[in-house]
Amino acid sequence: AKEKGRNTFHFYSQELNAAANERLFIENELRIALKEDQFVVYYQPQIDSRTQKVVGYESLLRWFHPTEGLIPPDKFIPIAEATGLIVELGEWVLQESCDFVVRLTEQNRENNVSINLSARQFKDSNLVPTLSKMIITSGVSAKRLHLELTESMLMGNVEAAIAQLHELKALGISISIDDFGTGYSSLSYLKRFPVDILKIDRSFVQDIPEDSNDMEITAAIIAMAQKLNLDVVAEGVETIDQVEFLQNNNCFIVQGYYYSRPIPESDLPDLYLKLGEV
Ligand code: C2E
Ligand code: CA
Ligand code: CA
Ligand code: CA
Repeated sequence: AKEKGRNTFHFYSQELNAAANERLFIENELRIALKEDQFVVYYQPQIDSRTQKVVGYESLLRWFHPTEGLIPPDKFIPIAEATGLIVELGEWVLQESCDFVVRLTEQNRENNVSINLSARQFKDSNLVPTLSKMIITSGVSAKRLHLELTESMLMGNVEAAIAQLHELKALGISISIDDFGTGYSSLSYLKRFPVDILKIDRSFVQDIPEDSNDMEITAAIIAMAQKLNLDVVAEGVETIDQVEFLQNNNCFIVQGYYYSRPIPESDLPDLYLKLGEV
């Protein structure tokens, strides 16, 4: 038994070592990646299921590493967050997204772009001045910009969070609560925050119509959003059954593989063709 215990420990420590090494590798490579332009922003359309038209896009970061290939955000965002590199990386995503919206506007496409904000960025006192400058220099219409925050980012220092949200809203930006339903915020909390949009988390959508619990939760979130005068977006929509369930419950803006995966900007013409646009 002693022998086995030692082996188990050995096994775990090897695993821990591998994880620590991977972490260190990613951390080092992240610094290089920013300098060497290894990042690309992909855009996933948000569609109005009544008209099949694109209303907006979510910006989703992609890292194409020269030897490792595509490294998914779940692998590097937490490390970028822990090291603080997320502030610089997030700023780059914001800039790319502003420029993207400007190009869309030039094509008379009045689409929004939704950008994920990390906790570190949200707390950064430079966020509002940085965004303000970016809006002026890029010429983007601020009302086209939506920032996606999670419930947990609002829960720590509630007063500070409310103040920061008001400053962002004063720029003309809209605020969206991402992964809604997975955190701890209650209705009374939600009413205190100046938010505009709720995004229903994919975990509630993915098992519709098999899971009746998830259907009830989803319907309840939509009803609640309506009572609070918030827009609602469903994410992770993969099937026509899910589109129809959401429609029947008054949620029309949907995002998910059913319509499109996240795509590079160069694939937009194909998307428009698929949706039957010019
Ligand atoms: P998220 O904000 O919840 O983004 C939605 C994720 O669900 C994306 O994963 C998207 O590709 C995926 N998705 C969309 N529709 C479907 C669907 O129908 N089925 C399935 N199975 N998945 C779907 P992705 O791109 O891998 O991003 C993962 C997470 O990484 C994001 O989750 C977000 O938290 C974070 N992330 C991505 N880009 C950024 C960024 O620029 N900044 C920050 N701070 N975080 C980011
Ligand atoms: Ca998101
Ligand atoms: Ca989400
Ligand atoms: Ca998520």
